[in-house]
Amino acid sequence: MELGMSNVTRRQFLQWTAAVGTTGFPLTGRGSSGRVVVIGGGVGGITAAKSIKKAAPSLNVILVEQKKHYSACFMSNEVLAHSRSLESLRFTYDGLWKYGITVVNQSAVAIDAAVHKVILEGGAVLEYDRLIVSPGIDLRYDVIVGYNRRVAEKLPHAWTSGDQIGLLRTQLEAMQDGGTVLIAAPKNPFRCPSAPYERASQIAWYLQRYKPKSKIILLDAKEIFSQQALFMEAWRALYGFGTQNSLIDWHPASEEGTVTRVDPDAMAVYSGELDTVTKGAVINLIPPQMAGMIARTSGLTDDTYWCPVNKTTFESTKAKDVHILGDACNAQDMPKSAYSAASQAQCVAAVVVSAMSGVGEIPLFTHLNACYSILGQDWAISTVGVYRSNSTGTILQSVEGSGGTSSPGAGATQRKHAVEYAHSWYQNITHALFT
Ligand SMILES: Cc1cc2nc3c(=O)[nH]c(=O)nc-3n(C[C@H](O)[C@H](O)[C@H](O)COP(=O)(O)OP(=O)(O)OC[C@H]3O[C@@H](n4cnc5c(N)ncnc54)[C@H](O)[C@@H]3O)c2cc1C
Repeated sequence: MELGMSNVTRRQFLQWTAAVGTTGFPLTGRGSSGRVVVIGGGVGGITAAKSIKKAAPSLNVILVEQKKHYSACFMSNEVLAHSRSLESLRFTYDGLWKYGITVVNQSAVAIDAAVHKVILEGGAVLEYDRLIVSPGIDLRYDVIVGYNRRVAEKLPHAWTSGDQIGLLRTQLEAMQDGGTVLIAAPKNPFRCPSAPYERASQIAWYLQRYKPKSKIILLDAKEIFSQQALFMEAWRALYGFGTQNSLIDWHPASEEGTVTRVDPDAMAVYSGELDTVTKGAVINLIPPQMAGMIARTSGLTDDTYWCPVNKTTFESTKAKDVHILGDACNAQDMPKSAYSAASQAQCVAAVVVSAMSGVGEIPLFTHLNACYSILGQDWAISTVGVYRSNSTGTILQSVEGSGGTSSPGAGATQRKHAVEYAHSWYQNITHALFT
């Protein structure tokens, strides 16, 4: 393969371009042949499919997605504060065909990795040379007694966007002023570690304007949470946190924060060792999570309910030629986020093209994650992380001294700029995915 670079080695080139995250793609595999099947048309799956097709147009890339539309979870909390429409979270797959990607709108129901086959719900069988699996998460209803898919129609989790986030918004609108909104946050790891706290902030912002006698009780199965000091600084300034009139009350695990069962008829949850009962007019119950069903039923998960992978190539440690990325995989220090999924997808695309063009060399990747949280009018915070794997693929760790968060005590201009960066990131990632 010709890279047209005289003074750098190919390995160096691969490392450098991987380090810039989503902006560069390290390989061209124009002479490659074979078929890549991608399960899951979300952030990870689309990014991988597009990146492969751009680098190696001759590869046959098939994207299997069970839904006709994608509903983004990222930025969905803004819907609750009435600062974003539900429609602005919805995207079609029409834009993908022009890249030569075949989109199959069906659910994948089984993977037979031994014979390199995927079975679709209609019975059709897709053969593959390499398989990429990015099915996102499912909810572990079993962990909370009394909670299930049907009860979630009354006590929404709103963790898979679309109808659920719409339902939560409708319930908030219908609630009388003076009502209690109860939010339950799970233990780590789960999809988007800062999102429950961004959600509490967005709902507080809504209540402050439209139902000021109401309040939020946030029950947490953890002692500490992502960017806690920054969240609490904003809550103090915006919502009276820590005072008697606070819009938000936060209860960590040690203060009966872990929800263990629900009674939907009584609109009540029970938590902690004392089985403390808390009632809510609206209950947003975010349960623990696990890799999407296709990963579990195909034997790609372990006893953590997530998929173990080689942390350099994201190849499953349980099935050869199957790569798992995004929320479904265990990426050690990398948070489960859209930004992470896109970064991992770039890496997997490079590995797959490399393997299918017969090069076989595996680069060492540096990954990036950035997450924004919008906490109220003109107030956002962010966290950035850099992650590196080792040559044997056994670790994927945060790089010490890199990354960081917004500064505590940041000025109004910085906080406002962070809101603009958050919206700009949303424009960029959805543009990159769907057009
Ligand atoms: C409230 C909230 C706020 C968030 N905010 C942010 C944020 O600000 N920044 C950020 O980076 N991340 C954020 N996230 C996290 C982000 O949404 C996820 O991390 C990201 O979507 C993961 O991408 P993925 O490809 O793993 O899964 P997804 O994007 O969920 O895609 C999975 C796709 O696979 C499909 N699928 C599943 N099973 C099958 C099957 N058997 N056959 C066919 N198709 C299948 C699904 O329909 C879905 O389209 C947020 C999440 C939440 C809940």
